[in-house]
Amino acid sequence: MDQIRIKGLEIFARHGVYEEEKKLGQRFLADAVLYTDTRRAGKSDDLEASTDYGAVCRRLEEVLTENSFNLIESAAEHAAQELLLSFPRIERLTLELHKPQAPIPLPFSDVSVRIERGWHTAYVALGSNMGDRDGWLELGRKGLEGHPACRDVKMASLYASVPYGGVEQEDFVNSALSLRTLLSPYELLDVLQGLEQEAGRERLVHWGPRTLDLDLLFYDDLVLDDPRLRVPHPDMENRDFVLLPLCELAPAYRHPLTHKTVRQMLEELRARGEGQVTGRNGSDF
Ligand code: ADP
Ligand code: MG
Repeated sequence: MDQIRIKGLEIFARHGVYEEEKKLGQRFLADAVLYTDTRRAGKSDDLEASTDYGAVCRRLEEVLTENSFNLIESAAEHAAQELLLSFPRIERLTLELHKPQAPIPLPFSDVSVRIERGWHTAYVALGSNMGDRDGWLELGRKGLEGHPACRDVKMASLYASVPYGGVEQEDFVNSALSLRTLLSPYELLDVLQGLEQEAGRERLVHWGPRTLDLDLLFYDDLVLDDPRLRVPHPDMENRDFVLLPLCELAPAYRHPLTHKTVRQMLEELRARGEGQVTGRNGSDF
């Protein structure tokens, strides 16, 4: 991807663990590489179509002087997030924050922290089979839409399905949503579990009734095999109540391990004559 590069931006700020550093302040230097598509701006010669690097420098100065962090790690983290939120055309960035006057009792030329942050694409499955089922799904959607580190939240239709997994219980309403997020996979899982809690979810029976179940299906093309977080979500190829709504949002998205598209997984499931879904948006299938 194209890059806009800023090097050696000088900012006087007050980050450091020592009182003196907070009181007196010192010189910091920032280098940023902004990954963004510059083609439209390049063709049109119009600043509106690009990211104004002057504005980026001013914003960086603002964030680094408005706050006083102990660590340059925190200063960089905070600044990277603010830049990504303030300039929507930046897909990802690297930010290096130098502290050449850091209190180190030996001769040295520089110390810095360099981080890379950006927007990720995630897909989430929603399910409910207790109480106001449509309402619980809506709570999930709104929760992500209102989260400061999430954007472009899109939700598929609502599907009715009979339970999966052999536990006797009420029918489900299912859907899926896509979003762009600055959250890491584990941070996103924490947000999803927080929303399940908000919906009064209690984990009593595995695969049992629930007010709101939010499962992370895909996170970019990440593969993670940790019991706390398995990505892609296992068993999705056997669940039409996951694949049908997901297929509305991302039919051509490829499973990073099987390399099958969502549409292909759904067609194969249907060819086997399996499925739990009985209707969409209130009408029977
Ligand atoms: P299920 O969704 O299988 O019915 P739960 O919602 O009760 O079960 O989740 C059980 C555990 O699954 C959670 O504590 C969570 O840490 C873990 N888990 C593993 N991978 C994922 C994922 N991709 N999305 C959501 N939870 C996951
Ligand atoms: Mg779950």
